[in-house]
Amino acid sequence: MERITESVDCALCHMPASRWALRQASDGYMYDCPACGGRYSIGKTAFKRATSDGVPPDLLQAMRQVIVRGDIPRVAVIGGIWEWPPQMMGRQDADGDL
Ligand SMILES: [Zn+2]
Repeated sequence: MERITESVDCALCHMPASRWALRQASDGYMYDCPACGGRYSIGKTAFKRATSDGVPPDLLQAMRQVIVRGDIPRVAVIGGIWEWPPQMMGRQDADGDL
């Protein structure tokens, strides 16, 4: 399946990254951020929150720790708060079309 990537700023740390839309429009995006160490998924509500209010520094650090250990975390806002611990969307080394 063709994946259309766009060059954007990371939703978490604002460094250069790439992203693509997840298969279902409501699912948000998958980001690939070298500064964060790999891929993460972010839901639309969380994306809006990150864009308007920013991401808490401790959440950013915690997400990066998940990425470093090889998992793909899902950054989500549930009921108005950042979901922690995050759901895992797969492994960094898997080449799945998540
Ligand atoms: Zn980043």
